[in-house]
Parts: sequence; C-alpha cells; structure tokens
Amino acid sequence: MIDTFKAYQITKTEAGPRVALTNLTAQDLMEGDVTVRVEFSTLNYKDGLALTGSAPVVRRFPLTPGIDFAGTVISSENKRFSKGDVVILNGFGIGEVHSGGYGEIARVKSDWLIKKPDGLTSRQAMAVGTAGYTAMLCVMALENHGLKPGDGTILVTGAAGGVGSVAVLLLSKLGYHVAAVTGRMSEADYLRSLGAAEVLERQPFSEKARPLAKELWAGAIDVAGGNTLATVLSQIRYGGAAAACGLADSMSLPTTVAPFILRGVTLYGIDSVMAPLDKRERAWQRIERDLNLDKLETMISEITLEELPAAAEAIMAGSVRGRTVVKIG
Ligand code: NDP
Repeated sequence: MIDTFKAYQITKTEAGPRVALTNLTAQDLMEGDVTVRVEFSTLNYKDGLALTGSAPVVRRFPLTPGIDFAGTVISSENKRFSKGDVVILNGFGIGEVHSGGYGEIARVKSDWLIKKPDGLTSRQAMAVGTAGYTAMLCVMALENHGLKPGDGTILVTGAAGGVGSVAVLLLSKLGYHVAAVTGRMSEADYLRSLGAAEVLERQPFSEKARPLAKELWAGAIDVAGGNTLATVLSQIRYGGAAAACGLADSMSLPTTVAPFILRGVTLYGIDSVMAPLDKRERAWQRIERDLNLDKLETMISEITLEELPAAAEAIMAGSVRGRTVVKIG
C-alpha cells in the first residue's frame, strides 16, 4: 500500500516548465506493470537539460524527471519480476515521456527493466548510470569494428565528464592506450588516475577541422559532436573508427567525406535510450566484468533529491566531474 511519496514534478506553466519537489500519491503513478521503490538515481547531461529547462527533453506533463533508476520491486503483474527483485532502468523514455527516477516510487513497463547485475550494488549501478552504460556501448562498437588494444591509441573527448570518465576507465582496464581530451587541465591527475596515458587540451579540437589531418588515433569515443568530432574524424588512422554519442560541443557535424572515402574510417552512432534489451544486458554484463569498482568510487559525488537543482546547473556549466549519484530512498 503506497501512502504519499516524495518526487520531483515538472509542470507546464505559461512562463515555461516549473520544477518542484512535492508529495505524490499512488494516483500520480503512470501506467505500467511493475512498481518499484527507487533507491538511487543519477544525474546525466540530459537530466540537466530537463531540470534547467534548457531543452525540451520533457514532452509530457506533469512528469517526474530522471532518466535512470535502481530500486526494489514492490509489486509486479509480470512473471519476469517478483517482489524484492532489484532492478535497473536506463532510458526508454523515462524522465522524458514517462515519470522517471527522481521520486521514491516509480511505476513502469516490465519490458524496460533489467535485473541488477549481482556484482554491483544499486549505488554502483547508478554511478555507472546511462552515462556509463553508453560508454560501454561505445566500447562495444569499437570492439565489434575489430579494434584491439595493440592497434593504437583510443581518443576519448569530454573525458572528465560522465560518459568520458567511464570510457577512460573501461578502456584502460581492457588494456588500451587512452588519450583523454579535456577542457579542464586541472583534472589531468584525475584522468591519469582513471588510466589515461595522455591528457590533451580541448582547445585545438574545438577549432574548424581540416578534411584530413595527421593520422593519430586507432579509434575514438566522442561525446561532443561539432568541430570536436570533425577534428577527431580527420585524425583517425586508416581503417579506424569513431563512436559518437553526444553533442556537448554542438549538434552539427562540419566534416567532409574525406575521412570515409580516403581512409575508410567508420563512424558509429550510439543510442542508449531505445537500445534493445539484449544489447543492454550484454552491456551491463560487460560493465560488471570490466569496470574497476574501486576507481569508479573515486569518480562519484553523492547528492540528495534536495541538492538536484544546483547539481543540474553545474552539469550544464560543464563543471561536474565524473558521475553524480542521487540517493532517493
Ligand atoms: P557531462 O556533462 O558529464 O560531460 C560532458 C563533458 O563534455 C564535459 O564534462 C566536458 O568535459 C565536455 N564538454 C563540455 N562542453 C564541451 C564543448 N563545448 N566542447 C567539447 N567538450 C565539451 O555529460 P555526460 O557525460 O552525461 O554526457 C555527455 C554527452 O553525451 C551529452 O551530450 C549527452 O547528451 C550525451 N549522451 C548521449 C547518450 C546517448 O544515448 N547517445 C547517452 C548519454 C549521454 P571536459 O571538461 O573533460 O572537456
């Protein structure tokens, strides 16, 4: 029996979306066949956009934001899940068109849930969150391309952010030589502690790209788009690949076909939101196996629901390091 529970709600007003921490009841839960007591959520760039109203991420009102959660099943009408199961959910439209992780209770579709891997706590699973699971999808794309640790350096952009930090950690544990690009050279020691062999200034990557430049990288994981991705593509070695997942620099891609038709470079697009369940399960199994949990701990900031608005401003300002976990229950 659910009494009242604490949750953020975004409502639509004439002045724009309004965000408030409030008390809800069972009547406020959305349609779904599994009800979960949320223990942890997380703050991703997209959550920052939703909470600050910087982009129309939320497309249904009223709605509880938060694109991730980990929690315990309270009730289930689906045979795959039973009361007491610990589950995780990344994406599938929660925090956008279905109420998400920034509340103590969530009701969702069983098709969106996966069981939490045994080797991770709920807090660790949310320290990984959508950002870290996306980093794993990027690593898997480069592996599927055929890249191996001996093939050369892998470049990671936005390295001090969420996706970037987890990508550096995963790649270095897998034995790759990693070059980390950051706009915050003050985080160079942090990036080396995660396993970056080289730390590079962001500025030269932000400038207008030439069609082709010196071949430097066997592969790349890019969170930035824009001139950054165009520069990265111009520097990928013959037959190499880049996995693009973000737009922290820009939505545009001012490149030419030269890297593709003259060097056989491949650009993989990475989407975490609608990725099918079997791919998610493979990614989470790999995270359980390949992520250094002690080092993961060094990149976590833990906040409460009350501290979310300030943290959302910080992620939009590009000043959040690593991953932010939100303690809910
Ligand atoms: P964070 O804010 O944690 O990290 C983004 C990082 O990008 C910043 O920390 C900064 O790193 C770097 N950055 C900021 N501004 C610029 C700029 N103008 N040019 C180049 N780099 C910049 O966000 P997340 O890691 O959570 O997300 C990263 C991106 O990936 C976002 O665009 C997000 O929307 C996208 N994303 C996409 C997903 C998908 O399914 N495709 C899933 C998850 C995220 P530094 O200071 O080290 O330079």
